Amino acid sequence: MQKRKEFKMQLGNSKTSLGNILAKDKGKETANNGSQNQKSSPQKRANTKKKSNNGNGNNGGNVKNAKTALIKADNSKKALPAPGKKIKFIPLGGMNEIGKNLTVIEYGSDIVLFDCGVAFPNEEMFGIDLVIPDISYLHKHANRIKGIVLTHGHEDHVGAVPYILKEFNVPVYGTKLTLGIVSNKLKEHKMLGESKLHVKNPGESFRVGEFHFEFIRSNHSIADSVMVAITTGAGTILHTGDFKIDCTPINGEMIDLARIGELGKQGILALMVDSTNAERPGYTMSESTVGATFEKIFEGCTKRIVVATFASNIHRVQQIIDAAEKFNRKVAVSGRSMVNLLTTAMELGYMRIPKNILIDLDEISQYPKDRLVIVTTGSQGESMAALSRMAVSEHKQVTIGHDDLVIFSSHPIPGNEKTVSKVINELFKRGADVIYESLMDIHVSGHACQEEIKLIIGLAKPKYFVPVHGEVKHLRHARCLGEKMGIDKKNIFVLETGDVLEMSNDSAKVIGSVPSGYVLVDGLGVGDVGNIVLRDRKHLAQDGLIVVVVTMNKVNNEIMSGPDIISRGFVYVRESEDLMEEIKSLVTEALKHASNNHKSDWNTMKQQVKSALGNYLFSKVKRRPMILPVIMEV
Ligand SMILES: [Zn+2]
Ligand SMILES: [Zn+2]
Repeated sequence: MQKRKEFKMQLGNSKTSLGNILAKDKGKETANNGSQNQKSSPQKRANTKKKSNNGNGNNGGNVKNAKTALIKADNSKKALPAPGKKIKFIPLGGMNEIGKNLTVIEYGSDIVLFDCGVAFPNEEMFGIDLVIPDISYLHKHANRIKGIVLTHGHEDHVGAVPYILKEFNVPVYGTKLTLGIVSNKLKEHKMLGESKLHVKNPGESFRVGEFHFEFIRSNHSIADSVMVAITTGAGTILHTGDFKIDCTPINGEMIDLARIGELGKQGILALMVDSTNAERPGYTMSESTVGATFEKIFEGCTKRIVVATFASNIHRVQQIIDAAEKFNRKVAVSGRSMVNLLTTAMELGYMRIPKNILIDLDEISQYPKDRLVIVTTGSQGESMAALSRMAVSEHKQVTIGHDDLVIFSSHPIPGNEKTVSKVINELFKRGADVIYESLMDIHVSGHACQEEIKLIIGLAKPKYFVPVHGEVKHLRHARCLGEKMGIDKKNIFVLETGDVLEMSNDSAKVIGSVPSGYVLVDGLGVGDVGNIVLRDRKHLAQDGLIVVVVTMNKVNNEIMSGPDIISRGFVYVRESEDLMEEIKSLVTEALKHASNNHKSDWNTMKQQVKSALGNYLFSKVKRRPMILPVIMEV
């Protein structure tokens, strides 16, 4: 209820705090942003750091060092980045995985963080909400960090911003929509007030410390994504971010290939390229082709249409709305993330919403089914998402039946195939028609295929080539493309997360590595769930738990009461009374045996119970539940 109200309210009020905050930065060349905003931060950083410091003991001198850096940054305003030093490129995520993209870029004494994303937990990570990169390396260099530069608003690029800002409250630079999405996150973390967000437009340049950044318009499955040219005294790095080449994008603006060509002519030291689709030949289709398919489906359809897609793909949602307008249907939106994102996109002017086309989900019963479209989350089969709840009849407003046509306008992320097909099957069972990617062209990728990657390499003509954003196979395929395009084999670097690639005009090599890995987020806990906790969760999930409670006399080691057996996830106790009795007598025996053999300290006795019971259960039922003996003494 509350969420829907929020939606209405925000739609009616375009001058929200979000709009104001983003408007703060006028978007002009602000060479000194980085340094100005450092003024208030060192002390704060030192404070936050103290809280989270894991014993590195690196607090002393933070403030002093930051002051030195401040003066340096002020001077750098006048001059171009000083030449002569080497650039270090250190990915803390995103190599050999798709997710948690965060790269540390260093020049001289300055550090900038490039993207700041999360990964989603794998099926082994029981109960984990999010995975963020391990930033212990940054804790040792906190006072050198000058800012965070973001390429686009996808979770794997911005999801970790609140967690990183809690540690280092540095300025954040990104395009309007990207920072709109970041603002929503910071609001949820109650950090928006103290964060320093700077909107930069595609085509704009700005200085952060010793770095000169230029945002270059790009195309991707989210609006307002950019490639970034990073210039230092050692040369220019072109980082593609996530991209594709879309000549007919929905917002009308094509990737700025001309600018990439210009930079290529001036000389690009290194090209970091999105490798996600490097194994796919040809070109990725234009986003606008999906619109044509929507129209084909909508035309003459007499059912209610439900479309599931990624909330962040606002161009996709725009095309759904366009088709709905053309065929005279109202549009209702379902799913919290979808409502939040569309609200942000509308406030910031990224969508064209015809008058009176949007209705509240509560109002859908007032319209005939063939006049409705519902746009929903859940295209990945996520169990809590709106579509999954509709599929199992747990959605309050939407019941799926014979009058529904459900469209999956998405591609399952590797690993999600099973859950997606489960939802598809459930929808069919309820009588709905279902259209998914293998049946019609209702989805296109947001990432470049081989020919597009080759085109960028050809325009940029880099000296060094570094495939990024991919699993091992993607990075290897991208390397082959680089070789085919004539880049010297020894100038292509397929990195591991944590590798330090040091580059200058004369040479580039991996000079070592820094600590890297992941930190798990569970509820409000960041990093408190580690391997041992996960191992226990896995054990409990697979084999269940038996608790043995016994009260013993401290003096003579006699059992005063019990043993009582409590079991969870092991067997259903009421149907296994014989087994429970056997367990009780076995535990009694084990305790007596230990006591007779003078092994009567509680820990040894617990150990004896554990091993006797463990062996017995395995021989009897071939299971290994977790066994927790509890001895109470009187
Ligand atoms: Zn992306
Ligand atoms: Zn990405």
